[in-house]
Amino acid sequence: MTTPTTLGNQTVCPVCTVKITHLLGRDQVTFSTGANSTREDLWQRVCQHVQDRPGCINKPDRRTP
Ligand SMILES: [Zn+2]
Repeated sequence: MTTPTTLGNQTVCPVCTVKITHLLGRDQVTFSTGANSTREDLWQRVCQHVQDRPGCINKPDRRTP
């Protein structure tokens, strides 16, 4: 069973193994390559492809800013 790892204000997606840092007002994503990105970009690049695997902590955010 996969469970998210939370370290302070960081959560690691157990499926995608990316680090999501919860900053004030937004979340910053750190890929395993070290590149920083957004949750939207993470979804486009990785998470939409692993929907069949439970445990991914990044879901599409349908809020409008
Ligand atoms: Zn994920």
